[in-house]
Amino acid sequence: MVSLFKELKRFKIKNEDVCSQCRCADSLEHTCLDCPVSVKFYEEIISWFNQKKKTKKTLSNDELLFQNYELPSSLPPHSRRQLNLLVLLAKKYVYACKFTDARPDYSQFKFYLIV
Ligand SMILES: [Zn+2]
Repeated sequence: MVSLFKELKRFKIKNEDVCSQCRCADSLEHTCLDCPVSVKFYEEIISWFNQKKKTKKTLSNDELLFQNYELPSSLPPHSRRQLNLLVLLAKKYVYACKFTDARPDYSQFKFYLIV
């Protein structure tokens, strides 16, 4: 279940209904696609993937939400699974950061993946 600050305020768990990362109005769409802090983090993650795989992949909103990627046929099949897992863990990390008022940190996330 996805909780947003909007719902948390409605149930009087939080006092504000704005995004803890950028202070814009919070919504599911904002959290998943529009928050500039999250967008920057996802760009860093896909850049890391591109560097490792020697590709130039970008993530559309549909790909980010539904994880149905168009990948070059030159990549081995396990690359799709790696990207799926990477994006899934990145989304979980961003969501956790939002509720701990922590800023998503690319270096910390990479460390989290290694441990
Ligand atoms: Zn935001």
